[in-house]
Amino acid sequence: MRGETIRKTTPPRVAPNLRDYAEECAGFSWSRAREALRGLPGSRGLNIAYEAVDRHAASARAAAVALRCVGRDDSVTCVTYGDLAASTARFANVLGRLGVGRGERVVTLLGRCPELYTVVLGTLKNTSVLCPLFSAFGPDPVAQRLRLSDARVLVTTAELYRRKVAGQRDGLPGLRHVLIVGGGADAAPAGTLSFDALMADADDTFTIAPTAPDDMALLHFTSGTTGTPKGAVHVHEAAVAHYVTAWYALDLHPDDVYWCTADPGWVTGMSYGIVAPLMHGLTVVVDEGDYDARRWYRILAEQRVSVWYTAPTALRMLMRTTPRTGPYDLPRSFDLGALRFIASVGEPLNPEAVLWGRDVLGLPVHDNWWQTETGSIMIANLAACDIRPGSMGRPLPGVAAAVLRRGEDGRAEVTDGHVTVVEEPGVEGELALRPGWPSMFRGYLHDERRTAAAFADGWYLTGDLVRRDADGWYWFVGRADDVIKSAGHLIGPFEVESALMEHPAVAEAGVIGRPDPVAGNIVKAFVALRPGFDPTAAMRQDLLAFSRRRLGPAVAPREIAFDQHLPHTRSGKVMRRLLRARELGLPEGDISTLEDSAHGACASPRGAPQRTERSA
Ligand code: ATP
Ligand code: MG
Repeated sequence: MRGETIRKTTPPRVAPNLRDYAEECAGFSWSRAREALRGLPGSRGLNIAYEAVDRHAASARAAAVALRCVGRDDSVTCVTYGDLAASTARFANVLGRLGVGRGERVVTLLGRCPELYTVVLGTLKNTSVLCPLFSAFGPDPVAQRLRLSDARVLVTTAELYRRKVAGQRDGLPGLRHVLIVGGGADAAPAGTLSFDALMADADDTFTIAPTAPDDMALLHFTSGTTGTPKGAVHVHEAAVAHYVTAWYALDLHPDDVYWCTADPGWVTGMSYGIVAPLMHGLTVVVDEGDYDARRWYRILAEQRVSVWYTAPTALRMLMRTTPRTGPYDLPRSFDLGALRFIASVGEPLNPEAVLWGRDVLGLPVHDNWWQTETGSIMIANLAACDIRPGSMGRPLPGVAAAVLRRGEDGRAEVTDGHVTVVEEPGVEGELALRPGWPSMFRGYLHDERRTAAAFADGWYLTGDLVRRDADGWYWFVGRADDVIKSAGHLIGPFEVESALMEHPAVAEAGVIGRPDPVAGNIVKAFVALRPGFDPTAAMRQDLLAFSRRRLGPAVAPREIAFDQHLPHTRSGKVMRRLLRARELGLPEGDISTLEDSAHGACASPRGAPQRTERSA
C-alpha cells in the first residue's frame, strides 16, 4: 500500500459529525437512523419530497435559501424552502391534472435550471417516479431510455425537444405528455404543452398521498462504463441512507453552503446534489454553466462554499491548470477561506489528487465509493480520520462489506450457491455488501436476469475488485471487467494510471491489457500530456522507465501511446473498454454514454467535461 498517510493532527475548524469510527459503528442501527426523519404527518408513510422540502417549509427554515442557482450569465437566483414547497406543490398539481399518478414515470431532460429541482421534487410529491436524463445525451440514447423507463411524461426545453425527441416521438406511444420549460406559453412546439402555462394555473398547496417506504421513487440509469446502461430502481426509504451517509461522509452541518458538481442526470447529482443536502436543510449551490477552472474557483469563493463534493476527473482537470509543483497563482487569486471539506466520488482518486488538494487548496480530498445500485455512499474517508491516499476509506456505520474470493473470470467464485469471504488482509477479491441498507436498488427495471446475477449467497456483488488492509481500509483494484491478467499477475489499471500521474508531464492515463501470446496480456497505457510537454520518443522512454521504477517490471506498462482525447463517459470516467476495443479492432459496443466532442464541453456531470482543458 503505497503513499504517506495524511494525519489529521490539528482539529478541523468545525467538529466532525462522526468523531469515533469504532464507537459509531458499534452503536449504529438503521431503525434508529430512521428516527432522524420526520415521516409524513399522520403516520402516512415516508416521502422524500416531504423530508427534503415540506418539513423545512413548515418550520423556521421556510425563509432559508434552499438553492442558490448560478446562471450561465453569472446571475444568481435564490430559491427558499418556502418557494420550493410552493413550486413543487404546483407541479404535483399539474401532474394530477394531466392524470399522471402513482408509480408513473416522469423523465427530465434539462440542464441545471431551477425548474429541474421543482420537477424532481414535485414528481416525488405526486408519488410518481422521477427518471433524470443527462441533457447532453443524443437522440438515440434519449429514445432508448424513454422506452426502457416506460416514460409517461417528459419535461424538457423546446430546443432539446426539437433536437433530440421530436424525430423519435412516433416510436414512443407510451409518452403521453411533453412539457416545455421556458419561453412562456407560446414556446411549446406542436404536440407539447407549456410547463410555464400549466404551472401558472396550478394551485400552490398539495397534500402528499400516503407513501410506503418501499414505493418506487427514482429510476437511475448507470453510467454505462462497462456495458449497456441499466435502470436501477430506488424507493422512498432510500432517504434514510441519503440523510445519514451525508451526515457521516460529507460531514454536512446545518449552516453549510454546499456544492455538488455532479449533474442530477447521474445518481450523485440526485442523491447528494438534491435529496441529501435539502434533507439537511442547507443552502445548495447549483451551477448551470460549464466547467472552467477560473469559473469554478470563483464559485467556490463568491458563494462561500464550505463543503464541496466533486469527482476525480474534475480534480485532474484543475490539476492540469495548477500542478502540485506550483505556482499556485490561479487558486490563490481567490478567497477559498470558507471551504472546509472536500470529497470525491465516481472513479478511483489517484493519490496525487489527494495530495494536490492538501498542497494547493489547503485541504486533502476525501475519496468515497458507491454505485448507482447502492444509492448512497458505502465506503468513505472521513473528516475525523486520517487519510491513506489511494484508499477509498472504510465502510460507513451500518454497511457490512466483505472481500470475496475471486474465480477465474475475476468475479466472486460461487460454488453450489456459496461464496468465500476472504479474511486475510491484502488479498484481491470482489467487493460485496450485505443487503439491508435502505437505499439498495430494488432491481434493474425489466431485467430480472441481470438483477438476479448481482446477488449470491446473501451478498450483493459489486463487480469491483478491491483489497482490504490489516486496519480495514479498502483499496480499489479495478472493475472486474477491466483488470489485466499478465504473466500470472492480476493488475489493476488504476495502480498503473496513478503511478503515471505522478510524472510531471502526465495529465491523465487510461490503461488496458493487450493480448500477448507469451504473457497472456501486456499492459498498455494511453497517456494525455499536460500543456507544454511533447509526445516524443524520448518522452515515451522516460515514462516507461519512470513507471518501471515505481511499479516494477511485472506491473509497469510495456507500451505507451499518446492520446490527448481519451474516451470518457458522459459522467466523466475513462472508458477503458473502448480503448481496448479500439486497440484490438473489436466492435465498440454500446457507446450511448460516450462523451462526444459536440457536447463534451457543455456540462459537469459527476465531475466535469474533458474538452475545455484538453485543448488548452
Ligand atoms: P456501468 O455499471 O453501467 O458500467 P458505472 O459502474 O460506471 O457504469 P456508476 O454506478 O455511475 O456506473 O459508477 C459506479 C462505479 O464507479 C463503481 O462500481 C466503481 O467502479 C466506480 N467508482 C465509484 N467511486 C469510486 C471510487 N471512489 N474509487 C474507485 N472506483 C469508484
Ligand atoms: Mg456499474
